[in-house]
Amino acid sequence: MSTRKRSILLRDLKNYLTFLKDYGYSEIPSELGSTLKIQSGTNKKSNYSIGIDKRSNMETKQKLTKKSNISIEEVRDELGDCTRCNLHKDRKTIVFGSGNPNADLVFVGEGPGADEDEQGFPFVGRAGKKLTEIIEKGMNLNREKDTYICNIVKCRPPNNRDPKPDEITACKPFLIKQLQTIQPKAIVALGKPAASTLLGRTVPIMKERGNWYEYEGIPLMLTLHPAYLLRAYTIENRRNVMNDMNKVLKKLKQ
Ligand code: URA
Repeated sequence: MSTRKRSILLRDLKNYLTFLKDYGYSEIPSELGSTLKIQSGTNKKSNYSIGIDKRSNMETKQKLTKKSNISIEEVRDELGDCTRCNLHKDRKTIVFGSGNPNADLVFVGEGPGADEDEQGFPFVGRAGKKLTEIIEKGMNLNREKDTYICNIVKCRPPNNRDPKPDEITACKPFLIKQLQTIQPKAIVALGKPAASTLLGRTVPIMKERGNWYEYEGIPLMLTLHPAYLLRAYTIENRRNVMNDMNKVLKKLKQ
């Protein structure tokens, strides 16, 4: 095997092991039937670690989507006074998430802005007011009771720039644990960074919004970010977002 092929394989293996560790796995099977321990520095508190055995992919997936026993407060405790990436240097507050941790619906945004950083809650600025309007007027749901809202990064990127890949990588395990803990009936990714983070690839959001995907067995709808909607407040964009949300409402009723 060429050196290049080997390094690609090793990189993919490393990513896969990190992915499993993020999910709380502490063991993987070896060919010989014994188990190999994955060193888990950050997951000590997770009591949803499971060893993988020779099940089909389907069964493994069902295992992954099993509701974890840890609470949202425990996930927050594990995050602590985070310094895992450089975003901690300029933040005022960690914006973990808000709403009902037993909700059927989770919205995932990009990252806190200035208002969120100040107040410690997601989507409380202009884009947040638009999101609240979509939820309450458009979907006839109660933001606090019927939804949980969080972001792919929990600290404000300076000047509201997009979060960098290393910042997303550092924060993603906590997003995963939030979703694992909540196990909603549906997730809505708001905008390209959230959609790309959850699907693990670069998502052309204008092309792919309005379609159902899955995030580890949970239906995932992609839609436009409310900040984008405010910037491009066209009838078409508003209609598209409402159509997307109507699909979500339908899914919640199934
Ligand atoms: N935009 C986001 O993506 N998240 C927030 O919390 C606020 C604005």
